[in-house]
Parts: sequence; structure tokens; C-alpha cells
Amino acid sequence: MGKSIQLKNIKKSYGPVTVLKNINIDIEAGERIVLLGPSGSGKSTLLRMIAGLETITEGDLYLGDLLANDLVSGQRDIAMVFQNYALYPHMTIEENVTFALKANGVPADEVKNRLDEALSILGLSELKNRYPRELSGGQRQRTALARAIVKKSDFFLLDEPLSNLDVVLRLDARKELVKIHEKYQQTFIYVTHDQMEAMTLAHRIVVLHNGDIQMVDTPHNVYNQPANVFTAKFIGSPG
Ligand code: ADP
Ligand code: MG
Repeated sequence: MGKSIQLKNIKKSYGPVTVLKNINIDIEAGERIVLLGPSGSGKSTLLRMIAGLETITEGDLYLGDLLANDLVSGQRDIAMVFQNYALYPHMTIEENVTFALKANGVPADEVKNRLDEALSILGLSELKNRYPRELSGGQRQRTALARAIVKKSDFFLLDEPLSNLDVVLRLDARKELVKIHEKYQQTFIYVTHDQMEAMTLAHRIVVLHNGDIQMVDTPHNVYNQPANVFTAKFIGSPG
């Protein structure tokens, strides 16, 4: 089961440029949150701050009960999937998926159990001795997901993980993500610029624009009762 996340008055600047303005969000343990907004709205920056890959300029980030501002990425119980998958090209699927577990001293039989389970869930069992270059785009994406789920982290962070897949694969992958979430109950934070993806994956959607939160609500309410003109236009609400 995942843990809660609280963002309190979070700001992010690069030099004189403010890219996140005043972010306040309370995320429940085990919730599936989608950060939705156009390119440049600050989604990746926000996710990377939660991951510990960007510093926080102002404000406080709580991961569970823990004030996490000063924890480096390796001290946070997170798993992350990137848009480009970031697989190690010289390692097989099995090695990619188990590398971090072995480095963290997880016992060999436990590594094997987690590997077998993740490969089975993602339909990769037959491919574990292949290298990334010997896989299709969809298989690479599944490998990146497998590598993240074996960590059994409290927090599962995904930055546009499906955007390099074709439409059919993307629809299948969304269903799989929901299944994975229902099995592991981690706290999911999912970044996308795709409105339909947000609608199908989120318990709640955070709409971002120019580093500002426009709305935080259920897909139903974001669609039917958009809080402002930007949200209505971006979601394509009726009326
Ligand atoms: P999104 O993921 O929504 O497309 P980003 O979080 O990547 O948006 O970027 C938000 C804003 O921050 C953009 O204007 C981007 O140019 C700026 N930005 C991101 N990273 C850096 C950086 N390392 N230095 C300066 N500006 C950055
Ligand atoms: Mg981004």
C-alpha cells in the first residue's frame, strides 16, 4: 500500500524564471493522480521534484509523514518510469529488471520471485534473455514498467510513459496500468498531456497551466464542471 503525498506552497524557479508558482496538493495513500497540462506547463518539473531529481525552491514536500525536501532520490521510496524508458542497452531484460534490486541487497530468491511475477504480469517471461535492441517499442515500455514494479515502492511516478506507443498499444497499456495499480496499491502519479489518458487513468486530475494549478478534481467533475475557461478548452468540455 502506498503512502500519502503533501505538497505545501511549492515553488520552483530556474534563476529568474518561475516554472511552478504555488502548488498545494494533498494526495491520498494509494490514489491515482494524473498531472495533466500542455507542454511546458510544469508537469515533469513537479514529478521530478517529488522524485528528488530537482531541488525545491520554496515550500514543503511530505512523503507519508516524512518531510522529504532534503532527501536525495535514493533515499525516497519511489519507482519512476520515463518517456524514453531509459533501459540499459548492454543488459538483458532480466538484468535491467533486477539490477537495482541486487544493488540494494534484496536476497536472490526474493529477486527471482519479483522478477518472475513482474515478467508474467507484463507478458515478458519468454523474452527475459533478450537485449533492449531486440524488442519492439511496446516490449521496451513493458520492461521499463517491470523494472519499476519489482521495487515495490510506496510511490510510482510515471512521466508520459505511453507517448511513444501507437494508439492500440496505448489503450492496452492503460488497462494494464490500472491492473498493476489495483494489485500493488501504490500511490500513482502519472504525467500526461493527453486528456483521454487522464480521464481513463485518474482518480483525480490536477490540471496545470503555466506552472499554476487550474483545478484538482475527479475526471467527471473536470469534464462537466471545469473551474475556468482554460480547463474547459483544454479538456474539450461541452458548452
Ligand atoms: P512539461 O513537462 O509540462 O512539458 P516541464 O516541467 O518540462 O513542462 O517545463 C516547465 C517549464 O520549465 C518550461 O518552460 C521549461 O522550459 C522550464 N524548464 C524545465 N527544466 C528547466 C531547466 N533545467 N532550466 C530552465 N528551465 C527549465
Ligand atoms: Mg514533460
